[in-house]
Amino acid sequence: MTETEYKMLIDGSLTGSDLTLDVVNPATGNVFATVPRASEADAERAIAAAARAQLDWAALDVEARAQKLLALADAIESEQDLLVRTLVMEQGKPRADAEAEIGFATIFLRHFADQRLPVEVLEESEGYHIELHHRPLGVVAGIVPWNFPFLIAAYKLAPALILGNTFILKPAPTTPLTAMVLARIAQPILPAGVLSVLVDDNDLGPLLVASPDVAKVSFTGSTPTGRKIMQTGAPTLKRLTLELGGNDPGIVLPDADIEATAEKVFASSFMLSGQVCIALKRLYVHSDVYDQMCDALARLAEAAPVGDGLAQGTRIGPLQNKAQYEKAKGYLDVALRDGKVIAGGEIIEGNGYFMKPTIVRDIKDGSPLVDDEQFCPILPVIRFDDIDNVVSKANAGEFGLGSSVWSRDIETARDIAARLDSGTVWINHATHFAPHVPFGGAKQSGLGTEFGKEGLTEFAQRSVVSLAHA
Ligand code: NAD
Repeated sequence: MTETEYKMLIDGSLTGSDLTLDVVNPATGNVFATVPRASEADAERAIAAAARAQLDWAALDVEARAQKLLALADAIESEQDLLVRTLVMEQGKPRADAEAEIGFATIFLRHFADQRLPVEVLEESEGYHIELHHRPLGVVAGIVPWNFPFLIAAYKLAPALILGNTFILKPAPTTPLTAMVLARIAQPILPAGVLSVLVDDNDLGPLLVASPDVAKVSFTGSTPTGRKIMQTGAPTLKRLTLELGGNDPGIVLPDADIEATAEKVFASSFMLSGQVCIALKRLYVHSDVYDQMCDALARLAEAAPVGDGLAQGTRIGPLQNKAQYEKAKGYLDVALRDGKVIAGGEIIEGNGYFMKPTIVRDIKDGSPLVDDEQFCPILPVIRFDDIDNVVSKANAGEFGLGSSVWSRDIETARDIAARLDSGTVWINHATHFAPHVPFGGAKQSGLGTEFGKEGLTEFAQRSVVSLAHA
């Protein structure tokens, strides 16, 4: 696919525009594609087409909708190579991670193609027959971030479409390309208006959220943007699912298997250079094993190859965009000021947005590197001695997305897990998610749930039919 073939999808047509957007490869800092982006009129056209298409789409038998989703998954698989290369170039992630992302997207599509919400009989009595139905909401807008642009699009559109909603995808402006490949792949498969893809320059989200013809917004991104979406959606009482930021703590008990834990912690914390909402972002380690854990993490960080995601063997790619890179450099200064850097600690000079994976020890809560969602390849390792104290530190702050406990003593780990305020607690692993497992944030990490039956039903209107026997 050459850049001239990148098109949006509006009302069933692959659509260009006089407005354009430059896309930068974060590994080189160079613009490598210039693509069309939507005007407000384009967005209104997409909303109108999605609203027109919705009744017919909902009237199709669910098995027919499922077949379309399965056909989409097959078509994605047949374009795997192009999608992987495009994803690496727009996002920066290593090729293996891009392959996993495209593979996961098809897994989520096939999972939701298989889901049904049959009518439930709530009461069958002498007086009444009462049923619960799940009806489509209408037009759903999916607003997604730049860390997993393809997977997040797929796991929002699949549950929306299987239930009979139509869907408008708006990728983040720094990663619009795989969404446009999806537009081209989906165009011959889905009826006009069922899926639309709108590219913007960070300007069309509010229009989608405010529109009275959009019934629901499924959003993944930062907590500040989530707050804005709640405000913009308030006048129309928009249905919202918000998957927001996180500052996931990990707690390592003295009996943990240190080498195995270090490997898994490293994989979680440095996946996508730390730019993952459920990356482990602050590690609390018991004094008895603190030095050992810091040394093990430092060895892993020093050994991890940093480079272009397309290069053989790369484990750590660049930060995704210039703004995030600048933010990461600020946190590097904080690391050098507030702790002792024992691995990494520097950027790689050049035009790409590279930073070495960095381990910081002898740092405390109160440092922005510990308290903020840093979203970069710097892991603060904090010493603790007292369980009650570490639980209260882990629960401090506005976030509550995920957390993890690492121990050979599963009962103790379970007891600690029960005291952690987060949507998911992992024991002896981290960052794991699956289409059948509900996922969502506690506190200001989100609102509502994705995945599982709980996530699926958020794309439906519950509707009770209550019949009185005469
Ligand atoms: P962001 O919130 O800036 O942008 C996300 C999307 O929202 C983009 O498509 C953007 O164009 C759009 N947007 C921006 N302003 C908007 C507005 N006022 N109204 C509607 N839409 C608007 O986030 P980002 O910088 O792309 O991603 C990084 C952040 O996302 C991190 O904080 C990270 O933790 C979070 N994140 C969370 C999850 C999760 O599942 N909880 C997953 C990935 C990323």
